Amino acid sequence: MSILDGYEPFVGRGTLDELRLLGRQLQGRRVITVNSTAVGGGVAEILNRMVPLCHELGIDIRWDVIKGGEDFFAVTKRMHNALHGKHEAFGAHEYDVFRDTTRRNLAEMDLDADIVFIHDPQPAGLIEERRANRGRWVWRCHIDLSAPQRDVWEFLAQYVSRYDAAVFSAPQFAAQLSLPQALITPSIDPLSDKNRELTQSEIDQVFERLRIPRDKPIITQVSRFDRLKDPVGVIAAFRLAQRYNDCRLVLAGGGATDDPEGPAVLAAVHEAANGDPDIHVLELPPTAHIEINAIQRGSTVILQKSLKEGFGLTVSEALWKGKPVIAGAVGGIPLQVTHRYSGILTHTVEGTGFWIRQLLNAPDFARRLGENGREHVRTNFLLTRHLRDYLLLFLFLEHADQRTIELS
Ligand code: UDP
Repeated sequence: MSILDGYEPFVGRGTLDELRLLGRQLQGRRVITVNSTAVGGGVAEILNRMVPLCHELGIDIRWDVIKGGEDFFAVTKRMHNALHGKHEAFGAHEYDVFRDTTRRNLAEMDLDADIVFIHDPQPAGLIEERRANRGRWVWRCHIDLSAPQRDVWEFLAQYVSRYDAAVFSAPQFAAQLSLPQALITPSIDPLSDKNRELTQSEIDQVFERLRIPRDKPIITQVSRFDRLKDPVGVIAAFRLAQRYNDCRLVLAGGGATDDPEGPAVLAAVHEAANGDPDIHVLELPPTAHIEINAIQRGSTVILQKSLKEGFGLTVSEALWKGKPVIAGAVGGIPLQVTHRYSGILTHTVEGTGFWIRQLLNAPDFARRLGENGREHVRTNFLLTRHLRDYLLLFLFLEHADQRTIELS
């Protein structure tokens, strides 16, 4: 059975016909996509689902991961923070580590393809290998570039400016670049273990296994233990709500192989939790998709209290499950949440604590937010829409020198 047919109940026949039509235009094209981790984080999550669908549509796509040592990922994590606007000291050493790792990867990688699709800063330097007139190169940026640290962005822009196109998740991220830029939001997959329907007993079993009692409302944030996801702020907001409403907090997270800061943030979280039996800090392996699905489904309110965010896939994941979401009004989150219609947008610990209580005290309002959110995700943030946008981009690049593109 075709994988694509499984999406019909969510998006209708027409969407699938459209994807097949675009796929026919791109039959046999060789695409290489490169990111920095096979597991953990939103990019790996999407590629895991997108690659098999591309194969089914007849596109010869290969997914590679850039390899690097601890020094490289420490530099690229700081680069990530600096591009998000946090000050980081960068000098010749950091740039040398970046260049050396890029070169070592280039010596081992075969990047000969019709489309080379590179995600985020870590592998951006691979463009050095670009051969004249071979293939089109796309830089897909998942992070917020609206106020980057200037020196770090200037370093990266030397590479980025050599691409044929850049893709950003939201208009405010788009950078000052002379190449064509496409705005394409990410997506979630309704058929993945992370998002598919679960039975009540599947959900119950996960809560039992993780020893989380369901005797009171559960407030949850699922995120890597990263300062920009503000898990310590989540605990502070929970404590404000907990004074008046008896509830539990679940902080579910894990690491990603390209994020070395996790252990320090996790230690700060444990310190803030201070042994409170109503706070459950879970370290989950990257394969814990059903667990995360069940935790989201079994929660009363879901938080995503990010201070900076790319798109924030966890928000769409929660909305898809019909959950009321309270999220920081940063990055791509406002594209997913319209305040008081499909969720709640907040800016502070106090605001988050206030809205936790409001939603716990007004379950009908909370349910409506979740319903509206699910419909918004269905029409805008499912994998089929995302794939269609990428295929259109590939066609655009292939025909960039023509005045008309015929799709028949
Ligand atoms: N995720 C996970 N395990 C964790 C934490 C997060 O599987 O312990 C998943 C989460 O469900 C989501 C993705 O990783 O699918 C995170 O994507 P998002 O865009 O929210 O943030 P990123 O980590 O890419 O900054």
